[in-house]
This record gives sequence, C-alpha cells and structure tokens, in this order.
Amino acid sequence: MTKKPYIPYGTQSILEDDIDAVVDVLKSKFLTQGPVINDFETTISQYCKSDFSVACNSSTSALHVACLALGLGPGDWLWTSPITFVASANCALYCGAKVDFVDIDPFSYNLCVGALEKKLLEAKKQGKLPKIVVPVHLCGQSCEMEEIKKLSEIYGFKILEDASHAVGARYKKSVVGSCKYSDIAVFSFHPVKIVTTGEGGMAMTNDKQLAERMSALRSHGITRDDKKMMRVPDGSWYYEQLDLGFNYRMTDIQAALGLSQLKKLDKFVARRHILAKRYDEKLKDFPIITPQVNRDCYSAFHLYCIRLKCPEKRRVTFEYLRAQNIGVNVHYIPVYRHPYYQRFNFNQNSFPNAEAFYSSAISIPMYPNLSFDEQDRVIETLKDALMT
Ligand SMILES: *Cc1c(COP(=O)(O)O)cnc(C)c1O
Repeated sequence: MTKKPYIPYGTQSILEDDIDAVVDVLKSKFLTQGPVINDFETTISQYCKSDFSVACNSSTSALHVACLALGLGPGDWLWTSPITFVASANCALYCGAKVDFVDIDPFSYNLCVGALEKKLLEAKKQGKLPKIVVPVHLCGQSCEMEEIKKLSEIYGFKILEDASHAVGARYKKSVVGSCKYSDIAVFSFHPVKIVTTGEGGMAMTNDKQLAERMSALRSHGITRDDKKMMRVPDGSWYYEQLDLGFNYRMTDIQAALGLSQLKKLDKFVARRHILAKRYDEKLKDFPIITPQVNRDCYSAFHLYCIRLKCPEKRRVTFEYLRAQNIGVNVHYIPVYRHPYYQRFNFNQNSFPNAEAFYSSAISIPMYPNLSFDEQDRVIETLKDALMT
C-alpha cells in the first residue's frame, strides 16, 4: 500500500504575486538596507495601528533587542509562560538576566493572570519583582492584556508581548501589535507562522525612544545621525558606534515577501477560522478537548491544539498520526524541562497546569492551504487512533 501524501501541521502559502515581489527586489539596486524595509515597517504599523515598528531577521532577535531596549540586564528578572518556544525565555539569558515562569491558565493555555498576581505578591515581599513580563499569545489567542497591564501599573514591570503566533489577531477591538496594553510586541515571520518572510521578525511599539534604541541595536549600535553623535563628524563618511549592537537586519528580499504576504493576512486568518470551526464541529464527540477562544479575542489560529482526555493515549495517538503521514506536533515542551534550563533548578510541581497540558496536547494540521479533504483525512485518522 502506498502512503498517503504528507500533511504538515503548518506551512506557508506562497502565490505568484509573492514570487514577483521578491524577483522585483532581486532586479533592483538594494538587496538589503533599501526602501522595501521601510515600506514593510510602515504597512505593518498601519495595519496594527502602532506608531513604530522595527524589522529584524527573526522574532528571536526582535525579542533580544526589545529586552535590551527595555533595560534588561544582569540581576534583573524576566517572567514568561513555560508553554512557549524557548526563544521567549532565552532573550532574558542573552542579556545576563534571570528567567522565571508563571503557570498557564487551564482553558486558554496562556499565562494565568491569577497565578501572575500571586507570584508578584510573593516576589514583592522578597524584593525579586520582574523587570519584564512576556505574555505569549499561544496558538494566536491574545493573553488577558488589560489585566496584565493593570498589574504592571501596580508592580512596575514592562510588558513585552510575544505575539509570534498572533499577527492578524485581535483583542478587545484592538489589533494585536497595537501595543495598547504593552511596551513592545514582537511578531515572527517563520514559514509556519501566519505570514512569512522566510526568516524574520518585527518589534512593534508606540515609544519613539524604544524604537530608536531597537533600531540601533539591530544594526551594530551604529548611528549616522549627527544629532545623536558624541563628536563632531570627521567628514561625511563619518558614523559612530554608540552601543554594542548586532547585525539583526532583515533584507529587502524578505521584506518584499512580507509586504506581499501582508495583503493576504486577513484572508489567511479567515481561512484558519473556517478550518477551526470545521474541526470544532467534527471533533465534538471525540474524547478530546478542542481549543477555547475567549469572547474578547479573535485568534489568529496559528495552531489548532487538541488535548486528549486520556493523556496515557497521547503518545500512541501521536505516533499513529505520524505513521499515517500526518505531521502532528507538540507545542510545547515546558521550557523548564529542557536540559539547558536544568541548571536553574525549576520544580515541575510548581507548574501543574503546564504539566497537565504538556502530557495531553497535540497540534493537528492548520494552515490556509489545508483542503477540506485533507482536513477530513486528519479527522478520520484521529478517529481511527482514538476510537479503535
Ligand atoms: C516561532 C516563535 C518564536 C521565534 O520566532 P523566530 O522568528 O523563529 O525567531 C518565538 N516565540 C514563539 C512563541 C514562537 O512561536
């Protein structure tokens, strides 16, 4: 018997107009540091209604420059959710700061606001309050940002949204990335995410100083603006390095792809919603928990994550789907479980909801080009795995 075609859990949608946009840049004067980067930044700021945006070569580098711009350094704490990609926590370690985790909410799987409040109260007594909290909009659903913002006003931390899953999502009438409830929000344009630039990321903010700092840090900490220079220019070739920055720049080739993809963003997300609704209906009698989206959220549905009511069956179910050429995945292994993080001595028992989630979760295929036939094959295969 020949194997049925492979269905990934997520993949990009590239059309002719995307290819044409990239080819246009390849035929132009600038492959990088050209005008398309600006167009991409301006367009995404208009979409999100943020004042500034800083394109980077990944969301990971955007998180790094965001932390540096917010002043994170040795001795400081950054808190995030344990159910996330490692990059949400690693950005603290790059800055020499320390990481701690706040357990997740059992329904949204996002960082739990109640647990955050409790932990803040404890940390205040011990003088260990975080400088930055990183809410991660898991699967594309926004965290409860209004509540987190209120806590930030009481406890004085900065908010850096890891919106890598949530380009095109909405929360209480604002577009995720508007930074209405945060200092900075970052997006990822990795091919499995909502829109892609190959590799790429973006930091959104309404704070001019933060935008300028991030923009300098993504390009070696160098300035060519004589108003910002320490000395009188030696000549018109002159530039100054004022900070220790990096080369985290996005190319114009990537920005052209991103700009072309942005035109389709709302359509992509709408298609993800159609697929999600179809899954919701067809899976409702399965022994699983389907994703729940809060009423004040419009998810970008980056992932469709199911949880098995019987976690003992997760592994065999997962392996069965993979054997049937369905590219399921698990998002995520709690960050504190990784060998690198063992040096920090986290206790699994401190995060019961994250552990329960991790033991039962499977991300099933979800991307705009997934056809109903393919989706039905996923559902049938899942049925075979669970009901027999
Ligand atoms: C993908 C992802 C990142 C990293 O994005 P890159 O663009 O690949 O660096 C960070 N955080 C989360 C939650 C992600 O899913």
